[in-house]
Amino acid sequence: MDNTNYSARDLSVLWHPCTQMKDHEQLPMIPIKKGKGIWLEDYEGKKYIDTISSWWVNLFGHANPYINEAIKRQLDLLEHTLLAGFTHEPAIELAERLIKLSPPGLNKCFFADNGSSAVEAALKMSFHYWKNVNSGSNAKIRTKFVSLSNGYHGETLGALAVGDVALYKDTYGPLLMESITVPSPDCYHKDAGVSCEEHSKEMFKQMEKTLSDHAEEVCAVIVEPLVQCAGSMRMYHPVYLELLRKACDKYNILLIADEIAVGFGRTGKMFACEHAHISPDIMCLSKGLTGGYLPLSAVLTSDTIYEAFYDDYLNRSAFLHSHSYTGNPLACAAANATLDIFQRDNIIEKNIKLANVLKAETEKFVGHQHISEVRQTGLIVALEMVKDKNSKQAYPWEERRGIEVYKYALSQGVLLRPLGDVIYFMPPYIITPEQIKIISDIALQGINAATH
Ligand code: PMP
Repeated sequence: MDNTNYSARDLSVLWHPCTQMKDHEQLPMIPIKKGKGIWLEDYEGKKYIDTISSWWVNLFGHANPYINEAIKRQLDLLEHTLLAGFTHEPAIELAERLIKLSPPGLNKCFFADNGSSAVEAALKMSFHYWKNVNSGSNAKIRTKFVSLSNGYHGETLGALAVGDVALYKDTYGPLLMESITVPSPDCYHKDAGVSCEEHSKEMFKQMEKTLSDHAEEVCAVIVEPLVQCAGSMRMYHPVYLELLRKACDKYNILLIADEIAVGFGRTGKMFACEHAHISPDIMCLSKGLTGGYLPLSAVLTSDTIYEAFYDDYLNRSAFLHSHSYTGNPLACAAANATLDIFQRDNIIEKNIKLANVLKAETEKFVGHQHISEVRQTGLIVALEMVKDKNSKQAYPWEERRGIEVYKYALSQGVLLRPLGDVIYFMPPYIITPEQIKIISDIALQGINAATH
């Protein structure tokens, strides 16, 4: 069967995520037959380099033989069982390993089955924590969450409420719980001559004031450590996280680190919080957790939080949150195999070297007339494509120039999927220096074509 048939069949029945379906009157739908390493291949044998790790999930390539084997072994033992009252080795092993790897103090692991559901669990857990610890006292019930402007935590209603990307949030505004948004410390709009560190410190003052003003009504602060990924890969300095940890302690507020996109080696450490030497009270993980194979997420918490729920059943303090596929054995087996590869192949060290190659290769964009900033955190590089470099004036969004880059790159066998006019690379960790050169050259050609 050829591409035309797959496209037509698809478009007559499928409703795709994050897509205005009418766009496909012009944009091709690309049916993928198989994947191998960094490549995706369509039904006609055309290959694409997956520069965005299939939505930031794939760490060690498609059809990775080691992960494939682990899933096959597990498949013959147990494909799924409920996790209430029952357990299994892959989930136990994974929880033990995540606790060992994560910042100190995170000693309990709650599984869910995708990023948004981990965020929902974290929000509910922190609300419920205060309800439990304050029960019987005169303390007011805490109902508020503090988050950053331009943040993103998923698209279920709770996660949207603490997010701030207008494209996803605005339509649903009337449905969402109220939350408190503090201006992001992202360094893109800092004044010239001010360092990112100084800027992040300065921006923290507003966070400090908000926490001080609302201390008694706030359950938790939720942030994406270091990189606001869906918010155009905007980046900030680790000092902000250090200050945030101190302030959360001072005002007695929980800190949730949403490491769903930045966890698992993406920033040059296993978890981005490590750059600031902090432990959050709750950490959300997903995406790379299974090497990009299967949906799974984890919410790691401190003993203090866990113990606030541990009581006689009759006291009704249990966390009765559940998803059918919580801790699925196949997904846990894929995750354990993924962690084996981190250990076996010294991935963090390799990633730091690879990040240097990415830096050198994207140097050429710094002077580009239509790139106002080239920013990088580990294996994430973003290129801000603008109309005017000096004033950072964006192109009118209606011109959709990012899509022009996407189309050009596809024609050259490269999958780049910009966020608006921000072109970025977030490749699988197995990318080679030669492939980095190819993707940056093609991005340059695409940007030239879209901005001429
Ligand atoms: N948090 C962050 C930081 C994310 O980047 C994402 C996904 N892009 C999510 C939460 C939601 O994850 P999922 O798409 O698996 O629901």
